[in-house]
Amino acid sequence: MDFIDSHAHLHFPAFSADGAEVLQRARDNGISLITVGTKFATSMSGIDFAEQHDGVWCTIGLHPGHVHDHNFVDENEETHDKPMPEREFDEARYKSLVSHPKVVAIGEFGLDYSRIPNGMDVEVFKNDQRNVARQQLQFATKHNKPVVIHCRGGATADVTGAHDDMRTLIAEEIGRGGIERRGVIHCFTGTIDDAAKYADLGFLISITGIVTFGKSLAAAVREIPLEQMMIETDCPYLSPVPLRGKRNEPANVVLVAQAIADVKGVSLAEVARVTTENARQLFRLS
Ligand SMILES: [Zn+2]
Ligand SMILES: [Zn+2]
Repeated sequence: MDFIDSHAHLHFPAFSADGAEVLQRARDNGISLITVGTKFATSMSGIDFAEQHDGVWCTIGLHPGHVHDHNFVDENEETHDKPMPEREFDEARYKSLVSHPKVVAIGEFGLDYSRIPNGMDVEVFKNDQRNVARQQLQFATKHNKPVVIHCRGGATADVTGAHDDMRTLIAEEIGRGGIERRGVIHCFTGTIDDAAKYADLGFLISITGIVTFGKSLAAAVREIPLEQMMIETDCPYLSPVPLRGKRNEPANVVLVAQAIADVKGVSLAEVARVTTENARQLFRLS
């Protein structure tokens, strides 16, 4: 069986000590992968990593979490004590990376309304994020790449609507004749209704280990057609049960596939075949 981990961060510092071993474990399980950039520095380092390894492709983009100042440093991702936010998507800089043959998509970018910096006006915050997302949708159009979207709704009732806002931005860009190659909503945690609306826009969704955490995502996964689905680890984050809380790695994408097979009542081989074909087509992997 072949699997594609459609969204990993194997080039992050979390794997600096043993990345080659982790990659070997993935290969032993028939897994190829996309390693995803989150800012300019990790877009560059992702290309470096993909360049060195067969069966590894990469993406470039600016994650919504790096648009504003934030008070925490994710040591899995960044080695600086005080990383600087990028604030704007600097097209000229990213353009220098986009033609690399290993770069298969633009992202991850999108909207994350779950962590608003203290004291920041909510509307200003959301507007900044929408602008940076719009810039990257247009960049993807210009360079004829699919997009990898990160979209997370608000943690509080007054900051909801990330999926609605994201679909508005996507529909606007499609309305301009853009993003012909469409894309994926990664780490999908929305409802069946959300998935159907994304399907209407021609978008895939990708499922992480969250499908093993409880009943709500599993219920949606049961109804969403496999033909709209990819699988991912989002490693080093989101280890599936029974490894929850440990560092995640691409080999564990098999556990995600198995969980999908279980809730849908289909074979693991069927999940592997369809999700691999979906990833090959979206990212044009050879
Ligand atoms: Zn993400
Ligand atoms: Zn990610």
